[in-house]
Amino acid sequence: MSVWRMLLAVACLAACETGRVAPANSSDGQAAARARMVQEQLVARGIHDPHVLAAMGKVPRHEFVSERYQAHAYDDYPLPIGAQQTISQPYVVAYMTEQLQLTGDERVLEVGTGSGYQAAVLAEICREVYTIEIIDALAARARATLERLGYRTVHVRAGDGYQGWPEVAPFDAIIVTAAPDHVPQPLIDQLKVGGRMIVPVGEVNQSLVRLTKTADGVREERLLPVRFVPMTGAAQTPRH
Ligand code: SAM
Repeated sequence: MSVWRMLLAVACLAACETGRVAPANSSDGQAAARARMVQEQLVARGIHDPHVLAAMGKVPRHEFVSERYQAHAYDDYPLPIGAQQTISQPYVVAYMTEQLQLTGDERVLEVGTGSGYQAAVLAEICREVYTIEIIDALAARARATLERLGYRTVHVRAGDGYQGWPEVAPFDAIIVTAAPDHVPQPLIDQLKVGGRMIVPVGEVNQSLVRLTKTADGVREERLLPVRFVPMTGAAQTPRH
C-alpha cells in the first residue's frame, strides 16, 4: 500500500460572505471533478454545512498541488506538497471546517498553512484568515498561490504557530493542522470566550479534539482518531 493510501486509510475516518473574496475560477477544467468530490466524498459521508459544501465546491484544489499531482487533486486521499508535508484529504478538510461552526463574520487562525488550501476554504466562509507555516518555502509558496487566486483576506506568516499570532488575537476560531502532544497554551489564550479550536492531539495515537472556551474555562470534546504530521518547533520542546 502506498504511503498516501495508507494515510487515507487512517485519516478516513480544510460560503457565506463570498462577496468579500475574489472568486476562484469556477469554469476551470476540474469543476466536474470538484462537484463529484463534494457529492461522493463529503455529502455522502455526512458533511452538511452549506457554507462548507459551497466553499469546497468552489476552491480550485488542483491549484494548490504541483502539476504532477493535479490529476489527483480531487481524489479521496492526501497528496504530497513538498518538504515531506501533505495537503489533507478533502473529507478531513471539510470535517474540521464544519466542526468550527463558522457563520461568516469570524476571524480565524490556522496553524499549519501547508499548501494554503485549507486557508482558502476558510476564506470562502469567514471574514479574515491568519495562517502560520513553520517551513519558510511552504509559507512563501502558499502566499504566492493565495495571492494569484485573489484570496486577499488570507494573511500568511512564516514562523512557529505554537505561539499563535498575539498581535492580531483574539480569534473566533482556531484550526491546527499538525499534531502537538498537548494543546498549546498560547492558542487557548488567544481564543475568544465562545470560540472553538479544532486540533489533532497526540503522538502515535492522535485524537481530533474540539475545545470551546467558556467564561469558566475550556470544554473539551474528543471527535475522531486521526493521523496528522507532528507539530514541530516549540511543541517538541520538553515541558517542565
Ligand atoms: N492545512 C494544510 C493545507 O491545506 O495544505 C496542510 C497542513 S499539513 C497536514 C501540516 C503543516 O503544518 C505542514 O506544512 C507543517 O510544516 C506545518 N507545521 C508543523 N508544525 C508547525 C508549527 N509549529 N507551526 C506552523 N506550522 C507547522
